Amino acid sequence: MENKPAILIDGKLIASNIKEEIKKEVAELLDKGQRPPHLVAVLVGNDGASLSYVKSKEKQSKEVGFMSSVYRFPSTITEKELLQTIDFLNNDNDVDGYIIQLPLPKQIDAKKVLEHVSPKKDVDGFHPTNAGRMLLSLPSYLPATPYGIMTLIERSGIETAGKHCVVIGRSDIVGTPMAVLLSRKGKYADCTVTLCHSRTKNIKEICLTADIIVVAIGKPHFLTADMVKEGAVVIDVGIHRIEDDSEKGYHIVGDVDFDNVKQKCSYITPVPGGVGPMTIVSLLTNTLKAYKKEIYKD
Ligand code: NAP
Repeated sequence: MENKPAILIDGKLIASNIKEEIKKEVAELLDKGQRPPHLVAVLVGNDGASLSYVKSKEKQSKEVGFMSSVYRFPSTITEKELLQTIDFLNNDNDVDGYIIQLPLPKQIDAKKVLEHVSPKKDVDGFHPTNAGRMLLSLPSYLPATPYGIMTLIERSGIETAGKHCVVIGRSDIVGTPMAVLLSRKGKYADCTVTLCHSRTKNIKEICLTADIIVVAIGKPHFLTADMVKEGAVVIDVGIHRIEDDSEKGYHIVGDVDFDNVKQKCSYITPVPGGVGPMTIVSLLTNTLKAYKKEIYKD
């Protein structure tokens, strides 16, 4: 019997639909004479990937009608100066949310800086207060990538209750919050979750028992078809630039051996065009929530 082809989860389309919804809401605010939501990105140094992420955040913010600002600093900035900037942003009533683009230079303690961000403006959801509130199922800003994945699952109507979900990777910004969100009570959650990492033994055997696999480890093509059971849902968070002879000189792949794994799945996210586009859109959603004071009332 032939396998049914996997359904591609079109993150690009879902992200574009959400952006249209945000844009409409912002247009309505402006019609009522209110100011637009304002998102600020703090960028330190000249790291190429960081520059392009911030540019993309700025572009997409403007597309939905937000005000967008970038505070740029040289990589020689001191921790004290950066903390002073954060104090300023925390107190600026015209700024609804801001992000500190990571990584930060070595002389700066990133954890200390992120803790200095007001939880009310922490639209990246990295502050311990937001992480703790997420753990307790209280309203909070969810970190953008896991939030984006939860939205993909919801908008694709994927059943999750009682399913065994294997998350591979336990980073603070992707794997760990992903495991928390999938195991919480509620629709599009209620999973039984196994969190795997570099010290996990028998990853292949564990994956073979999974109904849903989320891979976020940063290793190209790590998840192969022999690790996936028929009909599983596979979410690929990885992004890798692989050099080639094409005109662009590279192509993008994920942590999943997509061509072979897709033969066995019910649903799968492509790379690019799956999880990636959802990350910035989730940041925009958080900023709109900050503007509307949906999470913190005052
Ligand atoms: P990270 O901070 O480097 O964490 C990687 C995690 O993978 C760690 O928990 C590590 O385990 C685990 N790991 C590494 N090798 C492993 C192995 N062989 N078997 C099992 N676990 C292993 O990564 P991240 O920031 O979460 O990012 C992961 C990937 O997602 C990267 O490719 C990144 O570029 C991509 N990403 C994409 C988006 C997006 O918007 N699409 C957003 C963020 C990240 P230990 O904890 O034991 O070291």
